[in-house]
Amino acid sequence: MRRFFLALIVCGVAWCLFCPDSVQAQTSDAVPKIKALIIDGQNNHNWRGTTPVLKTLLEKSERFTVEVATTPTRRDKDADAELYRRNLAAFKPDFAQYDVIISNYNGNETHDEWSPETKKAFEEYMENGGGLVVYHAADNSFPNWEAYNKMIGLGGWDRGHLPATAGKYLYWEDGNAVTSNESGRPRGNHGPGWAFLIEVRDTEHPITAGLPLAFRHASDELYDYMWGPAENVTILATAHATNGGSGRHEPVLMTISYGKGRVFHTVLGHDVQQVRSVSFIVTFLRGTEWAATGKVTIPVPDDFPGTETPTFRE
Ligand code: ZN
Repeated sequence: MRRFFLALIVCGVAWCLFCPDSVQAQTSDAVPKIKALIIDGQNNHNWRGTTPVLKTLLEKSERFTVEVATTPTRRDKDADAELYRRNLAAFKPDFAQYDVIISNYNGNETHDEWSPETKKAFEEYMENGGGLVVYHAADNSFPNWEAYNKMIGLGGWDRGHLPATAGKYLYWEDGNAVTSNESGRPRGNHGPGWAFLIEVRDTEHPITAGLPLAFRHASDELYDYMWGPAENVTILATAHATNGGSGRHEPVLMTISYGKGRVFHTVLGHDVQQVRSVSFIVTFLRGTEWAATGKVTIPVPDDFPGTETPTFRE
């Protein structure tokens, strides 16, 4: 019996040494996975619930490996403000290790700002061709950081009165992106959650190419009156904010170019239930792949919703 196993091992080693070219080619041709980093730790949303779902979605697609970097939290701050400040100053992810950074971080107060070194490193990462996904309330973050506001294009809540968030309101009208400086409007708003229709406005962009021209999203917050520098923004899809909103077609999926970097901005996905809707999942995965590589290989699945009913996955 021992001899049999020995022979088996020898055969195995020999096969490995002289294995056919086709097998070697298969191994070396395997598409390398995209390295993604999710940042969280501050948010007026359920980041402890949504980050694990985002991570699983990315990993299940078999296109990504995912790590999570969590800043000190508000609980930490309440327990010991000085320690919180020191730990946040020490938050220094090595951005250059990753193909794409996904922000589930809404630090919208001065004490939630990253250190000047970390902000500079992130700006350099993006200028040099990094990828960023701005997810839902991440576009409420960093009202004092000029470069970040350029990266997100548009943001929400108390925007406009600070130099970093100065700019305009961007929406969609009669087939075109339109900007406005009108005063007396909110700068970031949403009505009650409802299952709105998303309309694709750019059918050729890799993220939206092949999607139905209109599809029903889960009951979610529809952000409107988004305000910001609005530079280098491409609106991919909009939704008509009729339910307690602006009454206009508001951007819900966008791309922004920043230096050599690519940004995918989705305003969708308020909480876990919304993140489990197929309209969110597919646009998030394709947008993240595009931000990382400039291409999209993730297909549009059969369970993608039509115009009537949103679809979900467990
Ligand atoms: Zn929300």
